[in-house]
Amino acid sequence: MIYEFDAVIVGGGGAGLYAALEASKSAKTAVVSKLYPMRSHTGAAQGGIGAALGNIDEDKPEWHAFDTVKGGDYLVDQNAAKILADEAVKAVYDLEHRGLPFSRTDKGLISQRRFGGHTSEFGKAAVRRACHAADRTGHMILQTLYQQCIKNDVEFYNEFQVVDVIMNGTTCTGVVAFELATGELHIFKAKAVMFATGGFGRMFRITSNAHAYTGDGPAILARAGVPMEDLEFFQFHPTGIRSMGILITEGVRGEGGILKNGKGERFMEEYAPTLLDLAPRDLISRAIVTEVLAGRGVRGDGKIDDYVWLDATHLGRETVEKKIPDIQDFCKTYLAIDPVENAMPVQPTAHYAMGGIPTDTDGRVVNTNEAYNGLYAAGECACVSVHGANRLGTNSLVDLIVYGRRAGSHIAEYVKSAPAPVVPDDAAEPARERIARIHENRGKGGGNPGEMYKRMQETMMKNVGVYRDEENMKVALSDMQSMRQEFSTVSGQDETADFNAEILSLLELENLLDLGVLTAASALNRQESRGAHSRRDYPERNDDDWLKHTMASMDENGNVTIDYKPVDVSIWEPKPRVY
Ligand SMILES: Cc1cc2nc3c(=O)[nH]c(=O)nc-3n(C[C@H](O)[C@H](O)[C@H](O)COP(=O)(O)OP(=O)(O)OC[C@H]3O[C@@H](n4cnc5c(N)ncnc54)[C@H](O)[C@@H]3O)c2cc1C
Repeated sequence: MIYEFDAVIVGGGGAGLYAALEASKSAKTAVVSKLYPMRSHTGAAQGGIGAALGNIDEDKPEWHAFDTVKGGDYLVDQNAAKILADEAVKAVYDLEHRGLPFSRTDKGLISQRRFGGHTSEFGKAAVRRACHAADRTGHMILQTLYQQCIKNDVEFYNEFQVVDVIMNGTTCTGVVAFELATGELHIFKAKAVMFATGGFGRMFRITSNAHAYTGDGPAILARAGVPMEDLEFFQFHPTGIRSMGILITEGVRGEGGILKNGKGERFMEEYAPTLLDLAPRDLISRAIVTEVLAGRGVRGDGKIDDYVWLDATHLGRETVEKKIPDIQDFCKTYLAIDPVENAMPVQPTAHYAMGGIPTDTDGRVVNTNEAYNGLYAAGECACVSVHGANRLGTNSLVDLIVYGRRAGSHIAEYVKSAPAPVVPDDAAEPARERIARIHENRGKGGGNPGEMYKRMQETMMKNVGVYRDEENMKVALSDMQSMRQEFSTVSGQDETADFNAEILSLLELENLLDLGVLTAASALNRQESRGAHSRRDYPERNDDDWLKHTMASMDENGNVTIDYKPVDVSIWEPKPRVY
């Protein structure tokens, strides 16, 4: 089938739905999503959304912007961070007015709690800035936005997986999507296309990310020649459930939870004397790994997969049941413990991609020096860049609603005068050929995709994890490049056309392999430590040589070339980070 819309939004998470809502004010808009929108990973966001409402402590957007810049180790584009903090306030009230059931203070205001790296007066003291709906904030955002999209006649194509983008020079004119129910390839023509496909943490073994987090949008655009920005900065959240990676929200520490090593010591006193357990995530993840390798983990064997305790037992039953009920539920389900009575075993878990598809502050995709026409991105798949080298907790949800909305508004204007999309008749051919090859390889004894998936996760976890060095990253890059080659030989077992989820998971693996190559190459290239990119062989931040964004491109053979883009440091001068 060939469909035609003014605007096609790829992805029905927080960023996609907010953009669709805005775009639909003037554009005939479709959301094309591989999942039912309510199953998007935004629904898993627990802790909160940051906005300087000042409902409990005095707060200002300017302080929020500064914390974002400092938290990102000064790789943040500062005007983008300012827009983020300024517009967060309006966006949160907008969600409230659209029906989001926020938790409340005694006075009936939106409740706010502490989160890592959020301070008042440029670092003086911790501030309560995270607005939340218990520990189900993301779930409530999705519900609110989805019902508003339905009301605005946005059309939804669910379980349609986008597998290719259609470009006419530097103008985007549509996408190609695979329909799960029938196995058919469809063309969606559009004056404007926005990617809002979320993250790609599944390339790591221990991750908090959903199975669908396979980086489809960035990989599709990377193959179309768009350079990827700052992929070396991948956040490890300090508190994933031991060996499973399932997230224990920072909100637990926001409510007063404490990290303890195997000896029962509150080790964060050593690493961040002021902010303690609510220092930024990169710092705490490194502290945990350092404790574990020094033999002060719970097992004490000095092995990297040892773990520490997150203790919330002193908070009392009422706080746990009211403020972090889902966490209590997870602990009962996955660990058979109640956090009211027992500390939780935790270790760092791959959580968030700071880098991704480069955009300007209107969500338009930009390469090193120019914007593409009719091509947009927002949310975790994009890099605007407000998270720099390390994202602060609660700032992703803000990113979705501020930049998802801005991209949607820009699309609403752009489509009014944009030309009708021109799409060649054979636009679906490249995708059809990739899928045909997977079927044709059947029975020829090529690579085993299940085993390849495991190998990818192992090498990325071991070699491009919390701590990195040249030798390890070279191993990861060469592993990923050879798996990428091997991918051309893989086949599926399932020959049927309808509900062939196997084909889709193979295409997802291909996306992860491509992004894994780009991530390892970008990390190997950056010879300094900054935010989440921490190198044993280059332990210091080096602003003289490295205060710049990476722009990495890959050719058909998996060779990566790296270019750079300046960082906007027009408001605050970069300083060493002290917490
Ligand atoms: C467990 C967990 C807890 C978190 N907690 C918080 C928090 O408290 N606060 C905070 O600020 N951040 C939090 N984050 C981060 C934040 O939730 C995510 O970064 C954010 O929700 C991503 O939103 P998104 O709209 O970019 O993508 P998503 O919500 O993941 O949506 C992606 C959409 O893209 C679609 N899609 C993907 N690929 C394709 C394709 N090929 N074709 C068609 N559709 C496609 C999917 O169907 C989906 O609808 C958390 C993350 C996790 C994993």
